[in-house]
Amino acid sequence: MSIEKKLLAVKNTLPSHVDLVAVSKTKPVADLQEAYDTGQRIFGENKIQEMSQKWEVLPKDIEWHMIGHVQRNKVKYMAEYVSLIHGVDSFRLLKEINKQAVKHDRIIECLLQIHIAEEETKFGLDTNEVNEILNSSEFSDLKNIKIVGLMGMATFTDNRDQVRKEFKHLNTLFSTLNANMPDMKILSMGMSGDYQIAIEEGSTMVRIGSSIFGARNTH
Ligand SMILES: *Cc1c(COP(=O)(O)O)cnc(C)c1O
Repeated sequence: MSIEKKLLAVKNTLPSHVDLVAVSKTKPVADLQEAYDTGQRIFGENKIQEMSQKWEVLPKDIEWHMIGHVQRNKVKYMAEYVSLIHGVDSFRLLKEINKQAVKHDRIIECLLQIHIAEEETKFGLDTNEVNEILNSSEFSDLKNIKIVGLMGMATFTDNRDQVRKEFKHLNTLFSTLNANMPDMKILSMGMSGDYQIAIEEGSTMVRIGSSIFGARNTH
């Protein structure tokens, strides 16, 4: 099946309040162009250098989302153009994003990544760390970043109940914060294998790669 057909098939399953991030990491520019020509405007990458190379050559009305783990020393390479950074998992990173955003006279929107999976290896904050960040006076001084929501990845497992439980947990935290923070409006959860459950549990943004572009060779 062509990328166009797969993209449209995925889109058909999404309610209108759910945004689609087409995860194009490792895929060639021609594949992204095909998705673009089908109407897709939001693309997700997990390596800053790869994202920048694609940003340079593809149409400028694309919204680039950084969905991977971000190293502080690389923030400067995307500060000029990145639309949303999903993987913010420390206050130090937030400060660096703010610093680079100041240089470009921008406000960069960010999601806090929450650790919801059982696996030790997945990055993310716990509830206490989130509250610590959001309630600190240092945080309110960061005028060039805006926290617009939360992101999480469920455990990679066939156990649907466990995945659902993890998404529910994230949605509970999201709803609590959302009640007091008007900017907190995006809940980024759900990938190719679990996005239907994520939507049932309140996701407003899904990050889908292999169901659109096919399996990745590397990684
Ligand atoms: C690769 C990736 C995705 C997409 O995964 P698929 O299973 O190919 O849909 C989503 N989110 C993050 C953070 C990723 O790294």
